Amino acid sequence: MTENAISALRAIFGERLRTSLEDRICYSYDATGKEFLPDAVAWPLNPEEIRRTVLLANEHLFPVVPRGAGSGFSGGSLPVRGGVVISTERMDRILSIDSENLVAVVEPGVVTERLKEEAKKQGLYYPPDPASLKFCTIGGNLAECAGGMCAVKYGVTRDYVLGLEAVLGTGELVRTGVCTVKGVVGYDLTRMLVGSEGTLGIITKATLKLIPLPETAATLLAFFPSNEKGARAVAGIVQERITPCALELMDRTAVECVRRMADLSLPEGTGCALLIEVDGLEASVAREADRVEEACLRFGAIEVRKAADAAGRDNLWKLRRSISPAVRQVNPVKINEDIVVPRSRLVEMFAFLSDLSERQDLKIVNFGHAGDGNIHVNIMISGKDEDERGRADKAVEAVFRKTVELGGTISGEHGIGIAKAPYMEMEVGPLGVSVMKRLKNCFDPNGILNPGKIFLEESAVRR
Ligand SMILES: Cc1cc2nc3c(=O)[nH]c(=O)nc-3n(C[C@H](O)[C@H](O)[C@H](O)COP(=O)(O)OP(=O)(O)OC[C@H]3O[C@@H](n4cnc5c(N)ncnc54)[C@H](O)[C@@H]3O)c2cc1C
Repeated sequence: MTENAISALRAIFGERLRTSLEDRICYSYDATGKEFLPDAVAWPLNPEEIRRTVLLANEHLFPVVPRGAGSGFSGGSLPVRGGVVISTERMDRILSIDSENLVAVVEPGVVTERLKEEAKKQGLYYPPDPASLKFCTIGGNLAECAGGMCAVKYGVTRDYVLGLEAVLGTGELVRTGVCTVKGVVGYDLTRMLVGSEGTLGIITKATLKLIPLPETAATLLAFFPSNEKGARAVAGIVQERITPCALELMDRTAVECVRRMADLSLPEGTGCALLIEVDGLEASVAREADRVEEACLRFGAIEVRKAADAAGRDNLWKLRRSISPAVRQVNPVKINEDIVVPRSRLVEMFAFLSDLSERQDLKIVNFGHAGDGNIHVNIMISGKDEDERGRADKAVEAVFRKTVELGGTISGEHGIGIAKAPYMEMEVGPLGVSVMKRLKNCFDPNGILNPGKIFLEESAVRR
């Protein structure tokens, strides 16, 4: 960025613009572990400051990179071409929670868990629950269309967005959508912005849908001898016409990692575990939990543990929650993919992954939201061996090809960012990419917003 551009930014932000190396380093990385230094970091307090920044960027041609908490797994918030990082940390007000209309209006920097807690105080529920909810922001969730454990029953962030306010790449402030249950006026610009990874607009306000808080929940942990049996049980439970609010699978390797680390007694012969939670009215939850238990046993579970009180449920969740720290013990570098296949193809996908692991001589740990068909494929490598890195890259590509072949998608929740840009065309095809680029051009003709993301060779502005 030029001195002139920095001075013009300082006129907007004053002390809330930082250019010291220390400050820039703090905003140079996300959960991918990759680092790119921005030229400056700014903390806006309102949409007007963001609008003025984007207008300046169009004049001086520097990149503007929106950032929530930097917890993304695809490199979305990394300033790969420098420019100014716009941190939404200080735009963190919950503007209203309307219990009559079941709607919340929030600023983008609100931490997801805070909104959930505030809604809960009024007997309401904001369901999206990424595992990062204690620190990630609503703005980041909207930009990535984040999902979580309860997506199988309640859907993902997209399903709770009624309307948005955003600054487009042109510097125009647009309001999209509605604050009502229905609304079909013109093209759905709200959906365009959700999942657009900060490349079309910077979200400055969101109108979100709330639902009544479920009365109670019950949790089950079922142990199976093999991945195949566990995966078949997933389809079996769904065929029972029960929709659990969580249906998580941990494969043989994941269970083995946890067995080594967590203080949990696992039944002899466990090769796979399913964590299932049902929620709803007191009267129906106990019955549904019994039916899930029966289905698991019918599909070959060795043992099923059940808990209805909070402490018991917490204990069962321990196995699932211990996985992330536990897998690091396998190898230090985790290549973390988030593919989704139709639930009916899960068995095939697990067989493919186990074969791939043997063929490429790689440790692959699989777990995730099996109820959605969403598997976190974690290829664990030392990070020191070139040959191993090459085999891992080949494995990633093979996983994506198989996923698309099975009718799935290469990203269920982490987005494309820089991590999956080379593979996007594999799923959406050249025409899909071309239409997306044309849309990008409408929203952001000078390529100011988050350049270098999603599209491999996007002609983006440079410093
Ligand atoms: C331990 C851990 C667990 C996780 N679990 C899950 C999970 O279960 N489900 C899931 O979906 N993800 C998960 N994630 C990934 C990550 O938390 C989500 O993608 C989250 O939505 C990112 O939010 P953030 O505020 O950190 O956004 P950032 O990482 O800061 O940004 C993400 C993207 O959003 C853009 N962006 C941020 N704010 C705005 C805005 N106001 N307007 C426009 N664009 C914006 C950025 O430019 C970037 O492209 C996990 C991450 C970690 C580290």
